[in-house]
Amino acid sequence: MASPPLPKVELRELGNTGLKLSCVGFGASPLGNVFGPVSDDEAIGSVREAFRRGINFFDTSPYYGGTLSKKVLGKSLKALSVPRSEYIVATKCGRYADGFDFSADRVTKSIDESLERLLLDYVDILQCHDIEFGSLDQTIPALKTLKEAGKIRFIGITGLPLGIFTYVLDRIPAGTVDVILSYCHFGINDSTLEDLLPYLKSKGVGIITGSPLAMGLLTELLAELLLSIVKRGKNISKLALQYSLSNKDISSVLVGMNSVIQVEENVAAAVELATIGKDEKTLAEVEAILKPVKNQTWRSGIQQS
Ligand code: NAD
Repeated sequence: MASPPLPKVELRELGNTGLKLSCVGFGASPLGNVFGPVSDDEAIGSVREAFRRGINFFDTSPYYGGTLSKKVLGKSLKALSVPRSEYIVATKCGRYADGFDFSADRVTKSIDESLERLLLDYVDILQCHDIEFGSLDQTIPALKTLKEAGKIRFIGITGLPLGIFTYVLDRIPAGTVDVILSYCHFGINDSTLEDLLPYLKSKGVGIITGSPLAMGLLTELLAELLLSIVKRGKNISKLALQYSLSNKDISSVLVGMNSVIQVEENVAAAVELATIGKDEKTLAEVEAILKPVKNQTWRSGIQQS
């Protein structure tokens, strides 16, 4: 008898792009050995398992592991042997292992290098990586040229300080930027992005978030604070991911993954949320414990007013 189909993560529309992203996205920074070494077999296995379970969105950057993440992701996607239209790839420009460079020349050169490393003809989304460190003057016209040339389908910006999104979106014509990626601001320990969601929706941009586990903080440091809950067998990573996934204005939550087990766990968390819902009681306990550190964030970038 044939085995029942695997439960898959839901797809959500991304702003006005027409793209439908898996609500759990595959953050490929760990494939650049950012959180520790990952073998090729583990990387390819993780990407394959993610795709099998409905994850169609993969995000990388030339900054992750000095281009290693891209190369490994490219190899892993090729190994899927499925049509290119079945998965969505986002990469970034402007931030590199040797520093920031948002100039038109570097951005234009960077996409060709990225496509070569990713073994692709185009990427779906090219994002200015941490735009708070850049300037729009040269970057946005260069990205528009790349869009016209068919090397990228949509333009995005990423950043840590939330003020950067209003700063940029208030200064460019509507429809120039299609997507924003905010990280560390929509999770169990910091949910400050919530206040900005109505504004972002009014601008028609698709909303992606990253780092639901606060770049590992929740799985390591904060886990000590939450020891009493962990000791009862509760899974903090699952609770944290479900918290981030529960707002459907956010199209996709990017989780950094480097093993088949993490893929299985994160997909299971999304499927459980969609079918059973959140563990509200434990979540309330966690939120009460984290209250003294709630909305404290990493310091990075230049805050725009
Ligand atoms: P994250 O919060 O997703 O944490 C990743 C860590 O959690 C890794 O150590 C991973 O091994 C671990 N993990 C994953 N699933 C787990 C599970 N089920 N149980 C226990 N541990 C688990 O942080 P991140 O990787 O920094 O962010 C995710 C993605 O978001 C990145 O890969 C990137 O694509 C994107 N991002 C973008 C920016 C930017 O554009 N500036 C910044 C941060 C993140």
